[in-house]
Amino acid sequence: MSETGVVYLVGAGPGDPGLLTLRGAELLRQADVVVYDRLVSGELLDLAPSWAELVYAGKAPAQAAIDQEAINALLVDRARQGKSVVRLKGGDPFVFGRGGEEALACALAGIPFEVVPGVTSAVAAPAFAGIPVTHRGIASSVAVVTASGAGGASVDLESAARSADTLVVLMAAGRLDNVCRSLVRSGRPKTEPAALIQWATTNKQRTLTATLGDIARLADQARITAPATLVVGKVVELSHSLAWFRGGARRTTAVPVVTSA
Ligand code: SAH
Repeated sequence: MSETGVVYLVGAGPGDPGLLTLRGAELLRQADVVVYDRLVSGELLDLAPSWAELVYAGKAPAQAAIDQEAINALLVDRARQGKSVVRLKGGDPFVFGRGGEEALACALAGIPFEVVPGVTSAVAAPAFAGIPVTHRGIASSVAVVTASGAGGASVDLESAARSADTLVVLMAAGRLDNVCRSLVRSGRPKTEPAALIQWATTNKQRTLTATLGDIARLADQARITAPATLVVGKVVELSHSLAWFRGGARRTTAVPVVTSA
């Protein structure tokens, strides 16, 4: 029997292929198997050898969730065949990516694994909209939360809402109204600046800046759908001076943009 292979849980970054780490690229180039998610750039798959087995493990929006058990079993099975398995996940594998579950499956099966952190959209999406998630004198803490619980359950955002200056909410598109209401109920002012960044770092990037009170309605009007990241906090105001990314098709804004240096 061949020697056991290795499972590499690799963060692909938020979309722009240039945001993959060097370690991630190195592993992709020597992969026997690549198991990839929906939000992973096709350009990254081109790094894999032409003979590598490419397995799509994503799901289209509104389709039944892909069976996590089946993905875990596939990773373990291919590694047992002695293969180098790259599990390529959007953003960072351990930030709302179920990478922890996949690592546990490997650990339980006695399969060696390595985690290659990636650039998470929680930080990259704000950055590409010109929003530093912390800023001296403005925000000294940031909380990253999901708007969608396990199995689609709603999440209690209240404690996070109260605990951090800047809030970054992932998986918020489609439930923005509930999310914003819940944040306001938790004491965040309706007038607080908020931004929604869709398809961040790609040439489809769109940024909507508004207030917590009206961003859900405006996002609906602008038809901003997943993937999108919501940022709430005073740091959003910095985007008026710092929005540097010009790759986006268009910029939607609900408040005047100050374009001075
Ligand atoms: N592990 C990923 C997050 C997975 S959850 C990471 O670290 O980035 C998926 C959510 O991430 C999406 O619903 C969206 O909120 C956010 N997201 C992923 N890619 C994005 C992108 N290009 N632009 C904006 N948000 C993105």
